Amino acid sequence: MVACCGDLSGKVRGKAFPLAQMEKRLKQGVGWTPTNVQITCFDAIAESPFGSLGDLVLIPDPSTRVSIESGEGTPKENFVLGNIRYTDGRPWELCTRSILEAALERLHRVAGVTLYGAFEHEFQLRHRVSDVGKAFTLGGFQEERHFCEAIIAAMREAGVTPDTILKEFGAGQFEVTMGPQKGVTIADHSLITRELVGLVARELCYEPTFTPIRDPAGVGNGVHVHMSMLDSSGNPVTYDPNGKHELSDVAGKFVAGILKYLDSIVAITAPSVVSYLRLTPHRWSAAFNNLGFRDREASVRICPISDISDIARAAQFNFEFRAADATANPHLALAAIVHAGVQGIEESLAVPEATQEDLSLLNPEALSERGYVRLPQTLEAALQRFQDNATVCGWFPEGFADVYLKHKEGEIAYLAGKTQTEICKAYEGVY
Ligand code: GLU
Ligand code: MG
Repeated sequence: MVACCGDLSGKVRGKAFPLAQMEKRLKQGVGWTPTNVQITCFDAIAESPFGSLGDLVLIPDPSTRVSIESGEGTPKENFVLGNIRYTDGRPWELCTRSILEAALERLHRVAGVTLYGAFEHEFQLRHRVSDVGKAFTLGGFQEERHFCEAIIAAMREAGVTPDTILKEFGAGQFEVTMGPQKGVTIADHSLITRELVGLVARELCYEPTFTPIRDPAGVGNGVHVHMSMLDSSGNPVTYDPNGKHELSDVAGKFVAGILKYLDSIVAITAPSVVSYLRLTPHRWSAAFNNLGFRDREASVRICPISDISDIARAAQFNFEFRAADATANPHLALAAIVHAGVQGIEESLAVPEATQEDLSLLNPEALSERGYVRLPQTLEAALQRFQDNATVCGWFPEGFADVYLKHKEGEIAYLAGKTQTEICKAYEGVY
């Protein structure tokens, strides 16, 4: 059994122990080292305020346990996610799962609602280089039917409800979406699904990559986070047929908060150097802090509900955050989104207009007159906006912002002197 956690680089790291120790490990955890948090996606250790000092424990949460049987006696996979704590049990300030728990508690405290949501992941199979004519086709799906079926079966076995899987637009590109969950499980399932895609792929000697973009001339691999809200009785409270863009009061302010703080949180939701090759206009990703009513070029899109469905309109209604990718830790990304949303509720922000036009055609003055900002165009610029925004840094525990910025500086330093092609390759190899 491996006790794991998602770290600042979005990777799942952990320590294995014999399954027979499970009961003991659920109480005392496995030992963890503070400086591990500065291991970047390239394994270079960024500057660490902890040095060689300190001891922490990673305590597994049994509700996240993933056990996949091989049918041959030994399990194919056995891991469990957990929280990093001080040895006296207090949450560690850099524990990404605890950071999300705190954000969700704030949402509940301020608005009395629970987040209900799901991640949608795009990835590419690296060996499928020439896939022309396969976008969204049954044929493209059939060629990888075995792979797709195995992913769905593994998700089911792991307790992750599958929603859809499809042959996406790009070369070797697929998209897998999980069913909605409440609270921290939303992000747990994102991490678990990513790991399961890797597990199934390895068995077939496939190499999937979730990197935001492999080549600026090609498509991006996005992460879209679908969100809605439930009241204390579990009833949906996101939809109001009379609200602006059909958003309820609480959901409208939440969305407005995300858009107001978006340029300062993309350093967390799209946190790699290549994330900013994807966050450009006309990629169906996100380039401005705009709301779209069903528009896939918007950072937040209000998703459609179908009148013909037997599911009530209110239960289906959700909005989607599109300015994220899989170089982000899903717990941290969701925490940043939720804090921005709660800030919007606290500030009682008005729901913005939905854009209908191509914002990339507007000059900077016209953009700002209309209340829009172009999202940062490099990781360095994104980190600067995060660092300069005291409200945003203040949502996170003491010391988080400083460690996070140093982590990202270490990641950027590893890429010094590399060409854009080499940088894309470097990320493609590690995500
Ligand atoms: N591949 C696009 C992205 O980078 C998304 C395409 C879609 O709408 O599914 O986000
Ligand atoms: Mg897609």
